[in-house]
Amino acid sequence: TAAVVVVGAGHAGAEAATAVRQAGHVGRIVLVGDEPRLPYHRPPLSKAYLAGTTTLEALLLKQQTVYDKAEVELRTGVKVERIERENKRMVLSDRTTLAYSRAILATGSRPRPLLAVGLDAGNIPSNLCYLRTTDDVERMRGRFVEGARLLIIGAGYIGLEVAAVARKAGLHVTVLEAQPRVLARVAAPSVSAFFESLHREAGVDIRVGANIESITLNAAGDVEAVITNDGTQIEADLVLAGIGVIPNVELASGAGLVVDNGIVVNQFTQSSDPDILAIGDCSNHPNPIYGRRIRLESVPNALEQARIAAAFICGKPQAYASVPWFWSDQYDVKLQMAGLSQGYDLAITRGSPASKSFTTFYLQNGIVISADCVNRAPEFMLVKKLVASRRPIDPALLADESVTLKSLAE
Ligand code: FAD
Repeated sequence: TAAVVVVGAGHAGAEAATAVRQAGHVGRIVLVGDEPRLPYHRPPLSKAYLAGTTTLEALLLKQQTVYDKAEVELRTGVKVERIERENKRMVLSDRTTLAYSRAILATGSRPRPLLAVGLDAGNIPSNLCYLRTTDDVERMRGRFVEGARLLIIGAGYIGLEVAAVARKAGLHVTVLEAQPRVLARVAAPSVSAFFESLHREAGVDIRVGANIESITLNAAGDVEAVITNDGTQIEADLVLAGIGVIPNVELASGAGLVVDNGIVVNQFTQSSDPDILAIGDCSNHPNPIYGRRIRLESVPNALEQARIAAAFICGKPQAYASVPWFWSDQYDVKLQMAGLSQGYDLAITRGSPASKSFTTFYLQNGIVISADCVNRAPEFMLVKKLVASRRPIDPALLADESVTLKSLAE
């Protein structure tokens, strides 16, 4: 019989499949994922799992028994190749087909490939790595050893998290960033400066404004060195490219769904085909707090959209309207971010970067649109509330630690 078919067994897909059951669906539910294992947590791949302080088993999002109990048919190691909307069925890589009543696309995203003179896109050197899956970590392991020279391309969250783990493991680390500062796309200059000095103190060689001119390979076809625009040559044993992701929309666009920086969905996660929903990293959705469409790459977004899709399928529609949030761990620093800072006109810091405990608020026309909390976990819930409230707040009060955040958030 026709099932609710969830495509992609990552954070969003695994949550959606069980949430559809919890929300009351009585029919068949099938979760199809092309990775050869049970769905797992991705954030530790650049943190504890890379550091070797947690196991594959501990990464699992849910044990097999949870899917069994929810009567979710889990099919791992199988890819959905095509959706035939006219027949309401999917064609899988194992040559089977699946009829769907409703489909949820949770296909996630993939690393943006590094393009450079000297690299052949069809022939990736064995010491050039990306970080998205457990297999990617296993590929890095042999070269991720004390004394090795690691070159990280891109100073976003993944690049910086890997730099922190690598320094602790005794690798020599260089980070190349094309922008004039780290985390340039998301953080205020003062926050970028904090993270740059954190990494420099730990011995990371951070080079900003550095564009790659070319890459040289050795006789074995491995990357030997990277040459930057100012002619500097950096030799490396291992290269990690962390230069962003591309949403996996090919399945959707192949089926004729509307795609524009992600699969375009409405507030209930419905795509341009009312029986096909899309959630997580691959979805471009409206956000009423910011009054614009966004595509997010975060675990909380994947989980919350999964529940929105499940509620919709079970006839209890709720509009998705959350403050985006995200976290990153580097050394002894826990960064938690609420909201989106794009378009801010004022950044205000509360607390002290020197003591590694502060919150930077981003305001637009007097309203707090986002905030970065560094080692301020107890404050984070209030910060999220403040961002959600959209009330104008006196910046002087935000900076004044004698005024409680609680009084400002309520
Ligand atoms: P994914 O987790 O990418 O899952 C999609 C799945 O679908 C994949 O398994 C994919 O192989 C599969 N798939 C795709 N197409 C098909 C198909 N046609 N058929 C079958 N299967 C298919 N977020 C945070 O909030 N905090 C963090 O600290 C953080 N750290 C991160 C660190 C790393 C190294 C990475 C890679 C990501 C991190 N993220 C973090 C981001 C977070 O992991 C993603 O936002 C989240 O995984 C998105 O979930 P998703 O289910 O949408 O996509």
